[in-house]
Amino acid sequence: MLQVQIVRDDRYLRHKTGLSHPESPARLSAVYRMLDWDHPGGFIEKQARPITLEDLERVHTPAYVRIILATARQRLTHLAPDTIASRDSCLAAWLAAGGCVLGVDDLLAGRCQACLVLCRPPGHHALADRAGGFCIFNNLGLAARHALRRGLRRVLIVDWDIHHGNALQNLFYADDRVVYLSTHLPNAYPFTGKLGEVGVGPGAGHTINLPLPPKWGDNDAMTLYRVVLEQLVERFSPEMIMVACGFDAHFRDPIGATLQTEASYAGLAQLVATLGPRNNDIPLLLALEGGYDPDTLTACVAEVLAALQDQRHGQAVWSAQSQKADELLARAGRVHAGFGLWLD
Ligand SMILES: [Zn+2]
Repeated sequence: MLQVQIVRDDRYLRHKTGLSHPESPARLSAVYRMLDWDHPGGFIEKQARPITLEDLERVHTPAYVRIILATARQRLTHLAPDTIASRDSCLAAWLAAGGCVLGVDDLLAGRCQACLVLCRPPGHHALADRAGGFCIFNNLGLAARHALRRGLRRVLIVDWDIHHGNALQNLFYADDRVVYLSTHLPNAYPFTGKLGEVGVGPGAGHTINLPLPPKWGDNDAMTLYRVVLEQLVERFSPEMIMVACGFDAHFRDPIGATLQTEASYAGLAQLVATLGPRNNDIPLLLALEGGYDPDTLTACVAEVLAALQDQRHGQAVWSAQSQKADELLARAGRVHAGFGLWLD
C-alpha cells in the first residue's frame, strides 16, 4: 500500500474572496469535513509551512512579492479582475506554495510516496509578476523549481484542470528538465494552450497542449492520458510526477463544460499512481487547483484518495477505445512526433 500524505491547513480558509466568488473557503471546508468524517487517521496529515522568500523569488519577482505583502494591510484588494485578496490571503498564498514545497521535501525524504496538497488559493495561472485566474503564487511551479534545486533533473507536470495552466507553461517553456502536459478547453480562460505551443529552444517538444473537443467524457480522458503518460514516463523518465489537480472538468462544475464524472478522477489518479510510485518508484505530488462546486469537489477528492490507497480502485474496465482521443492524438502526432518525447 502506498504511503499517502495529505497537507491541509485551516489557515487556507482565511483567504476570503467575497460573497459570490466561486473560489471560496467553502470548497476546502467541505473537503476537510469529508476527511474528518470518512478518514479519521487514515492518512499521514501535515500542516503547511510557509515557503521561504528565497524559494518564492525563484519564480516571482521581488516587486510582485511586495505587492502581495502589502495586501495584508488591506481589507480587500483586486489583484486582477477575477482575483481578490483579503487581509489573510497573503498568508494563505504563502502557505499554499509552502505546502507544495513541503510535499516535495517529504517525498524526497521518503516520508511518503504520494502527497496530496489540499490548498488554496490555486496556482497554475499565477505569473512571475501578476496574479490571475484566482491564483496568487504559482504553487506547483515553485515546487518544481524547488525540486530541480534539490537535484532532480526531470519533472513531469500533468495539468488535468479544465483551464490551461498558462503560468506553468510560461515558467518552463524553454526548459528541457520539465515536461508540461495540459488538457483544457480551447477558447476559454486564459485563452492559451494551442496545440502548436510546444516550447522553445531546449524546451521544444516539452510543452504538450491537448485542447479538448466538445462532449469529452471519462473514457476519452482515460484513453488519452493512458497513451500519453505511458509513453512519457518511459521516454522522459521523470524523477517526480506533479499533478495540477483541478476538478473543474466535472460535468456538475459551474465553470467546467465536459461530461467527465468523478470516476474519471479515480481512473486518472490510479494511472499516475501506477506509473509513478506503485510500479516505477517515482514520487507523486498532487496539488489542488480548480473545482468550484463544493460537494462535487469533495466527491472527486474522495475518489482520488481511494485510488491512491487501493490499487484496484479506479481500474474500472475502460473500453480503451475513444474516437475523440484517437483524433486528438493524431492531430498532436503531426505536431509532436518530430521531438521523440512521445509518439513516433
Ligand atoms: Zn480551472
